[in-house]
Amino acid sequence: MNGAEACPFCQRIAQDDVTHQSEHAVAFPDAYPIAPGHTLICPRPHVESVFELHDAQWTGLWLLVRAVQRTSSSTQAADGWNIGVNSGGAAGQTVEHAHVHLIPRTIGDVPDPRGGVRWIVPDRADYWTRP
Ligand code: 5GP
Ligand code: ZN
Repeated sequence: MNGAEACPFCQRIAQDDVTHQSEHAVAFPDAYPIAPGHTLICPRPHVESVFELHDAQWTGLWLLVRAVQRTSSSTQAADGWNIGVNSGGAAGQTVEHAHVHLIPRTIGDVPDPRGGVRWIVPDRADYWTRP
């Protein structure tokens, strides 16, 4: 997937098929959620990396992350949150339109949540077991 023409996120933005929106960013449910309420927040322009955003777009993106979190926490029970950005193929990005994952967490949803985002590198995640 390269250009905006084939981008599923650009298609959603064009159809206004979003749950939250602002001047610079939109939010919508992840199509393959890893937890109930898993939401994607993305800038309106088709840029691959969040680091390409100019200041107002960057601020707008992260303000919308917080707005979605506030709305979600008033409508669903969450005991914690993961916020994640996969920027670049080496970091695991699969959709080439920059986005932030906002993932509600509940106590007991996995047997041991310690480490959270550290599990992107499983061999090194559990530092608390290291001497
Ligand atoms: P990435 O791996 O790029 O950080 O995450 C891409 C995310 O987009 C994945 O969590 C995946 O479930 C989600 N996704 C992939 N295709 C679609 C789609 O067509 N619509 C929506 N709403 N989410 C998608
Ligand atoms: Zn796009």
